[in-house]
Amino acid sequence: SPSLVWFRDDLRLADNPALQAALERGGPVVGLYVLEESPGIRPLGGAARWWLHASLASLAGRLRERGSTLVLRRGEAAAVLPAVVAELEAGAVFWNRRYGGAERGIDAAIKAALREQGTEVASFSASLLFEPWTVRTGSDTPYAVFTPFWRACQNLPAPRAPLPAPVVIPGMRTTPRSDDLEAWELRPTHPDWADGLAEHWTPGEPAAAARLADFLADDLSRYDRARDEPAAESTSRLSPRLRWGELSPHQVWHAAVQQREADASRFLSELGWREFAWHTLFHFPDLATRNWRAEFDAFPWPPPNRDHLSAWQRGRTGVALVDAGMHELWRTGFMHNRVRMVTASFLVKNLLIDWRLGEEWFWDTLVDADAASNAFNWQWVAGSGADAAPYFRIFNPERQREKFDPNSEYIRRWAPEHLAADPPAPLVDLAATRRQALDAYDVVKRAR
Ligand code: FAD
Repeated sequence: SPSLVWFRDDLRLADNPALQAALERGGPVVGLYVLEESPGIRPLGGAARWWLHASLASLAGRLRERGSTLVLRRGEAAAVLPAVVAELEAGAVFWNRRYGGAERGIDAAIKAALREQGTEVASFSASLLFEPWTVRTGSDTPYAVFTPFWRACQNLPAPRAPLPAPVVIPGMRTTPRSDDLEAWELRPTHPDWADGLAEHWTPGEPAAAARLADFLADDLSRYDRARDEPAAESTSRLSPRLRWGELSPHQVWHAAVQQREADASRFLSELGWREFAWHTLFHFPDLATRNWRAEFDAFPWPPPNRDHLSAWQRGRTGVALVDAGMHELWRTGFMHNRVRMVTASFLVKNLLIDWRLGEEWFWDTLVDADAASNAFNWQWVAGSGADAAPYFRIFNPERQREKFDPNSEYIRRWAPEHLAADPPAPLVDLAATRRQALDAYDVVKRAR
C-alpha cells in the first residue's frame, strides 16, 4: 500500500527523515501538503504566502522528476488526513515534527485517529537540532538564559549527519486528485510589493542549497567581523530557507562545521538562537501574544497611535535607519538583524506601541516570519522575553546608524531621502520619548 509523506515546514527532499522512512517501507510514495484552516493555526502572512506558493511549485516539480507527486489540499488537517488516506488506500503516514502548541495538538490527535483505524504513523525530528524536551537545567526546568542553554546543547550528542536526497521516489500508477496550486491564490492578484520579492528571492530547495554553498565559500570568514553591518550583506540570508525547511538546520550545521578555513562558532551560535526561540515556544506556546515575563502585563501602554504605527510600517518616521529598514522589509520581505532590533526598539520604546503590533506587521511582511523567532525576538527587544535586553537599555537609532552604517551605504540604498538637503524630520523627539518609556517601565518594576 502507498505511504503518504505529509510535508509541512520541511519543503525539501534532502535530509528528510519522514520521506526516508516512506522509502524504506517500500511501495509507492505520495507527498501531501495541506493549506491548514484549522482552529488555532495562525493564518500565514502575505510574504509567507508568496514564498509558500513558489516553494510548493518547486517541491512538486522535484517530486515529479523522481517519479512521485505532491497532493495539495486545504482545510482542517484533522479531516483532510483521514480522507486522503482513505482515497489513496495508504497504509502509512510519515511526517516531521512541528513544535507550536496548536500544531502539536493537531498532530497528536491525527496520529491517534489514524492508528485507531490501523494506519501506521511515525513522526521524526528534522526541523530542530535538539528536541526541546532533551535540553533541561539541572533542576529539570527549561532554560531561561541563552548561554547556559547553548552550552547544554553542546554537551548533548552532536546533531546527526544529514541524509542524502533520494534519486528515485516511486509514485502511484494513477495520479491522485489534487487542488490546483494557482487556485489557492497565495500570490497577491495585484502585485505590488510581490514584484520586489521575486526580484530578491528564488524559493525552493536548489536555490537554498546554492545559497548555503555560496555563503560558506564567500562570507563565513568575514561573518564575525561584518555581521552587524547592514550594508555588508555578509550574513547567510538562510532564514527563509530554514523557516520553510528548504534546508534543515542539520545540513547547515554540518556544512559550516566542515568549512575548516573559518571559525564557524559565531555563526553556529546564531543557529543556537533559533533553537532557543523554538524551545521557548515549545514550553510557552502563547509567545506571540503573552508576555513571557508576567510583570510586563502591568506595562501602561497608551492607546496605540495609528498614525505613528502606519508611519513606522511605511518607513516614514523621519529617523533614517528606521525608515531604511522598514523600506528594505517592504521591498524584499527581509531586514538585516541589527536593523530589525533598531526598528523594533523604536516602535516599542520611542513610539510606545505594544510589541504585539510590531510582531503582527513583521508576521505579515517577512518571508522568514516564523512563530518562534519572530515572537521571541520581539519580546527580546521589548524586555518582556527570555534572556531579554533590559528594558532600560534603549537603542538610540542615530548612534546605531553612526556605528553600523558609518558611510551611509545602507541609508543610500533604502532611504536616500535622508541624504537630501532637506531630510524628513523625526516624527517624535528621541530624548523625550526615551524618558517617557523609562517612566512607563517604572510601573513594571513596581509590579515585580
Ligand atoms: P544569519 O546571521 O546568517 O544567521 C543564521 C541563522 O541563524 C538565521 O538564518 C536564523 O535562522 C538564525 N538566527 C540568527 N539570528 C537569530 C535570532 N536572533 N533569533 C532566531 N534565529 C536567529 N528570524 C527568523 O528566522 N524569523 C523571524 O520571524 C524573525 N523575526 C525577528 C524579529 C525581530 C524584531 C528581530 C530583532 C529578529 C528577528 N529574527 C527572525 C532573527 C534574525 O533577525 C534573523 O534570523 C536574521 O536576520 C536572518 O538573517 P540571516 O539568515 O542572514 O542570519
